[in-house]
Amino acid sequence: MTGKKARNIGQRNRYYVRNSHPAIVSEEVFDKVQEEMARRARLVLKEDGTVESSKTKYNGKYLLGNLIVCGDCGASYRRRTERGKVVWRCATRIEKGKEECVDSLTLNDEWIQKVLGEAICENGVYDEELIRNNVDRVYVFHKNIIIYNKDGHKLTAAL
Ligand SMILES: [Zn+2]
Repeated sequence: MTGKKARNIGQRNRYYVRNSHPAIVSEEVFDKVQEEMARRARLVLKEDGTVESSKTKYNGKYLLGNLIVCGDCGASYRRRTERGKVVWRCATRIEKGKEECVDSLTLNDEWIQKVLGEAICENGVYDEELIRNNVDRVYVFHKNIIIYNKDGHKLTAAL
């Protein structure tokens, strides 16, 4: 009898072990994680001009450097201080010279913050956290900038 009882306990233990792994994530959560991973794997132009897929994209020193994209050549915009003023300029133009991206515009930092604040933030004042959470990309063209929001909407601001 003793031997038989011990064997039964063993079988019961195996049964519980086999069934102790419920689904760790729901399908919905899994899909969201996949989307997020894809988003973070996007190609990013780095400070030295090389392109890589970066997971540290959102840890950059300047948020706008991750968001503003040249409508002419597709490079990121980069922050510069010139004559005491902060401006944003196409990285190609900075790295390779203006002849490589002839028509891209230089944006005044105050101006682009004002535009984004008015377009995105409820009270019209630039709030980096709101911009970070809502804006996916800001494309700079010759006569306007187009703000692509993470929810799929886009806004156009005339220059
Ligand atoms: Zn450019």
